[in-house]
Amino acid sequence: MTNRPAYRTIPVFDQRPGTLPVPTGAAANPNATAHTLDTLRRPLRDLRISVTDRCNFRCSYCMPKEVFDKDYAYLPHSALLSFEEITRIARQFVAHGVQKIRLTGGEPLLRKNLEVLIAQLAALRTLDGEPLDITLTTNGSLLARKAQALKAAGLQRVTVSLDGLDDAVFKKMNDVDFPVADVLAGIAAAQAAGLGPIKVNMVVKRGTNDHEIVPMARHFQGTGVVLRFIEYMDVGATNGWRMDEVLPSAQVIERLQTEMPLVALEASAPGETAQRWGYANAQGQYDPRLGEVGVISSVTQAFCADCNRARLSTEGQLYLCLFANQGYDLRSLVRTDTGTSDDTALAEAIGNIWQGRTDRYSLLRAALPPEAQGTGARRVEMSYIGG
Ligand code: SAM
Ligand code: SF4
Ligand code: SF4
Repeated sequence: MTNRPAYRTIPVFDQRPGTLPVPTGAAANPNATAHTLDTLRRPLRDLRISVTDRCNFRCSYCMPKEVFDKDYAYLPHSALLSFEEITRIARQFVAHGVQKIRLTGGEPLLRKNLEVLIAQLAALRTLDGEPLDITLTTNGSLLARKAQALKAAGLQRVTVSLDGLDDAVFKKMNDVDFPVADVLAGIAAAQAAGLGPIKVNMVVKRGTNDHEIVPMARHFQGTGVVLRFIEYMDVGATNGWRMDEVLPSAQVIERLQTEMPLVALEASAPGETAQRWGYANAQGQYDPRLGEVGVISSVTQAFCADCNRARLSTEGQLYLCLFANQGYDLRSLVRTDTGTSDDTALAEAIGNIWQGRTDRYSLLRAALPPEAQGTGARRVEMSYIGG
């Protein structure tokens, strides 16, 4: 078992958190290359890899300008995991049951030659001998240019973030004056390249873009694009999160129902974060031609019970929860290694860490005292570990 210590609070304002000791030695489960379960019997299925901590947007809920300004100390290039290091680490995650890899950031398309990494990851096989499900979350700004090359390298799907159709609203959200039309062009290019089914994520902030819910739904209905509404989350420590700016998913669905009838659909996979709703026809039945929407209720409805996601930061820290305040330094294992193909220590570390995992922040959030809720608690930034 791991000797994982209780979380500590470090009274220093630093975007990047401290490091937990990596538990070494043979994993408690002697069968290290098998489906690994954590203390709540959750398998390890989904690995999210942040390939850069930089971004060309300044979304107020993620990288507010006041903090991420020209003096902000981003990671130096030498601190970033190389593509070879990422692939080495990913291979060991796959050996522990990972079936899906999502590349994220920061803005992942800012990382040079990302196609090279995608091609390396596409060569990996799951424990069942299947290709990995490889996807990417992007703000879409560079997608029109890169969609074809990404597809050719082996990327299967993309998720594009877009917080409104109205230019003024969207520009206020991205805070760098980026126009909606360019993101829509990126989505169209991704569709043309076969990077589907495409998902579009809209973070809903009450009072800022909630009036865009219905126009966004109308725009994407029947296009094959799955629109998902995300509750504005208390991730990180810089976005000034307030509960009264969260619009609960139940209210998103209520607003949609008044305009476009919906029926609840089954979850598509275990651990799926979105609740799915299908557009109904005149008979009140789901019509696949009209498509579906999803809601991700990260604040009002915890989905920790099925959470099968691990997160690898840009510099190789492993986080077991989006709301974690400390990670495990896997980079030190791949950089101090002898350079041979023996990754035993890395494999053991991943097994031990996952088997010791107890994280269930959203489930516990409701029980926290008010002063510990929201951004009062020190946490890792989303732009650092990726969404
Ligand atoms: N830059 C890429 C993008 O925006 O798609 C990838 C990284 S971004 C951190 C990943 C996802 O996290 C995006 O869909 C973004 O909207 C979402 N996100 C960031 N901060 C959030 C917050 N405070 N609450 C909810 N979602 C958030
Ligand atoms: Fe950049 Fe994505 Fe964060 Fe917006 S949500 S600031 S696009 S990393
Ligand atoms: Fe997973 Fe943490 Fe989110 Fe719960 S709060 S669903 S454990 S990432």
